[in-house]
Amino acid sequence: MSHFSSFNYRNHQLFAEEIPLTAIAAEFGTPCYVYSSAAIRTAYQSFDRAFGQRNHLICYAVKANSNLAVLNLLARLGSGFDIVSGGELQRVLKAGGDLQKTVFSGVGKTFEEIRIALAANIFCFNVESEMELIALNEIAGQMGKIAPVSLRVNPDVDANTHPYISTGMKENKFGIPAAEAERIYAIAQQLPYIRVSGLDCHIGSQLTEIAPFIEAAHKMLDLLARLQATGISIEHLDLGGGLGVRYDLEIPPTIEEYVKALCAATENYPQQLLIEPGRSMVGNAGLLLTRVHYLKHAPHRNFAIVDAAMNDMLRPALYQAYHSILPIAKRTGETKIYQIVGPVCETGDFLGHDRNLTLESNDLLAVMSAGAYGMSMSSNYNTRPRAVEVMVDGSSVHLIRARETIEDLYALEKIPT
Ligand SMILES: *Cc1c(COP(=O)(O)O)cnc(C)c1O
Repeated sequence: MSHFSSFNYRNHQLFAEEIPLTAIAAEFGTPCYVYSSAAIRTAYQSFDRAFGQRNHLICYAVKANSNLAVLNLLARLGSGFDIVSGGELQRVLKAGGDLQKTVFSGVGKTFEEIRIALAANIFCFNVESEMELIALNEIAGQMGKIAPVSLRVNPDVDANTHPYISTGMKENKFGIPAAEAERIYAIAQQLPYIRVSGLDCHIGSQLTEIAPFIEAAHKMLDLLARLQATGISIEHLDLGGGLGVRYDLEIPPTIEEYVKALCAATENYPQQLLIEPGRSMVGNAGLLLTRVHYLKHAPHRNFAIVDAAMNDMLRPALYQAYHSILPIAKRTGETKIYQIVGPVCETGDFLGHDRNLTLESNDLLAVMSAGAYGMSMSSNYNTRPRAVEVMVDGSSVHLIRARETIEDLYALEKIPT
């Protein structure tokens, strides 16, 4: 259970820090996302400490979990942010985050988003194409600004992860092909409203080995040397995010091992090191609390129909992702093999297959490792209001997003008269 450091059984009852999850379900209802502030704090501090004396900036990838309370907690710890939209920029601002520690990634930044980010004086634009670079220069010129830029280079490294979350192979839409990077850096160097500031890559998500990160880092350092030989100076090296977490039996590198390996690979370089962790900051700091509604025993399968569904937690349906599912109160008695499914009208609506559990109707379950890409990927499919979110801090629990109402869901809709 060590990878769920803040969620532990006491007397056969699962707790979030000092609070029994049954109490949270009674107060806030289900489905409910529960986050541990201690787990997030520990993850941030592990990253930060592992850098030691190395000049660094940790830019939390907002898309993993963008709740204002999560962003605010990280901002107070000193974190920077990696954003991929104007909406995320506004969230960072609202949460009290420092935009001067914020980098803006993404292949499709709109002109309006670029204007807002320039006005906010963000730390760096991670530019993903030549056309974006030209547009950024023009907009910065109109605004009388100089845009700090890294090119996001695609190092063509196999991250050895699920194809949907692999981003650094030459087939992917992300970044600038390594072979073109020097030519586009030379253009950037000439553009009057662009200041070349860094070099960036991000090769994918849920990586469970160090080797691809190091391979990418070496390719970046080779490129850095070639750029410097042409008189282009690079102040920071952004090695992206992507460190995996333990969902099941995988054994990803620890945060310390990962950071120490990056520092070692770049030790002869004075550049500031940036990383953009998302999943590894919050993934195992959250769970999705759900209640068993019906049990259905078909001839060949047992179904536990719960009140959370694919709209609340898309990862199983989208990536066949595995999430551990634990009872909140352990029962004794005969176990059965269950399909844990939601009420949504899709066969892909499942949270877990073939789980050995002792269940009765009304039991509470925890879908573990739900802190990253859970709520942030949720939808209102089947007109299901989004789940409530709470954050536990020791023996306090705070509501950090109220459960949506049905009225919220159609508030913007109109019937033509
Ligand atoms: C998604 C993303 C991240 C974060 O990835 P994790 O796997 O959650 O750490 C970092 N950088 C960029 C550019 C991303 O798109």
